[in-house]
Amino acid sequence: MSKIILSGDRPTGRLHIGHYVGSLRNRVRMQNEEDYEKFYVMVADAQALTDNFDNPQKIRENVIEVVLDYLSVGIDPNKVTIFIQSEVPALTELTFYYMNLVTLARLMRNPTVKSEISMREFDNSIPSGFLNYPVSQASDITAFKANCIPVGADQLPMIEQTNEIVRKFNSIYGDVLVEAEAFIPKTAIEGRVPGIDGKAKMSKSLDNCIYLSDTKEEVKRKVMMMYTDPDHIKITDPGKVEGNMVFLYLDLFVNDSHFEKYLPEYKNIDELKNHYRQGGLGDVVIKKFLINVLEDVLEPMRIRRKSYEDNIERVYEIIKEGTKSANEVANKTLEEVKKAIGINYFSDNTFLEEIKEKY
Ligand code: ATP
Ligand code: MG
Repeated sequence: MSKIILSGDRPTGRLHIGHYVGSLRNRVRMQNEEDYEKFYVMVADAQALTDNFDNPQKIRENVIEVVLDYLSVGIDPNKVTIFIQSEVPALTELTFYYMNLVTLARLMRNPTVKSEISMREFDNSIPSGFLNYPVSQASDITAFKANCIPVGADQLPMIEQTNEIVRKFNSIYGDVLVEAEAFIPKTAIEGRVPGIDGKAKMSKSLDNCIYLSDTKEEVKRKVMMMYTDPDHIKITDPGKVEGNMVFLYLDLFVNDSHFEKYLPEYKNIDELKNHYRQGGLGDVVIKKFLINVLEDVLEPMRIRRKSYEDNIERVYEIIKEGTKSANEVANKTLEEVKKAIGINYFSDNTFLEEIKEKY
């Protein structure tokens, strides 16, 4: 079966290094190395509204930020269709039919939704739209018959929910929809990068992020205040590597050539860790090294971002064109779905013939 790739992000803020490690890095690799029929990237503004309905301006402003982030990490608009979710109305319509296939109890059991509900302190006033966003995500995926979804680990329950809907739909109405597979990074930390505050997830909503578009000064400031090992007070003290945020981020980005370039006293990360564990290696050295490693990743992004910012009308055209072609595909699937359910009264002559025969 040929590969159709889809993934997306909520325009609730600029994208951060957690997104890069968890999903964007995989997307760029797939875009450049894999064989695929179609590749879609969606700005999930309608989903973002489910928990930001009272702040639509934030969503509107961040649409372009997220698109610029895509382009800056190297997503190539010639290979990938970038589109805006709310401008593809077929997605909303599909959601309405899929909602019948999912129980309230099932939605309440979704572990990611559960933790997001407690994080957002909804208590007893959970917007029903928010509870339903996994169903809308099923529409996003199935509308494009996407079978390969490069995402962070928090998205696994969404893909599971999608596939349950696909199976239920196909068993009731006939084979129309396609099951999808999530592609998450190899390690747990990559799939869920912690925030600079040490919290379990770097998240736009928690404001504990190093953003892809942060300036060098911002990156420096954030790294310098990072938590290391509270017992590593004097340089000579032995230090802990586990739970040390600086080493955690180094593990995500470092390679041996960074040592050659910025810290030639060590060959690789293991040597650096050993020295830190033994004592005699100060936090400032490892923090400066992390700044250099991050800059190696972020500086090319800043340059690419700037060139797109200078051509913002072209960026507008990219998403407008992308959305147009996404509509064509999603409308076709919606037609198939409606036909399978039997609610396609005017798409051909069959309904007319049925009623004529009856009366
Ligand atoms: P929000 O707080 O608004 O939900 P978010 O930071 O969780 O924002 P999303 O737009 O929900 O970002 O997620 C976009 C993609 O990035 C998803 O594939 C998600 O799994 C992945 N992702 C988000 N945060 C992380 C993280 N900390 N580590 C790894 N992947 C992540
Ligand atoms: Mg999220």
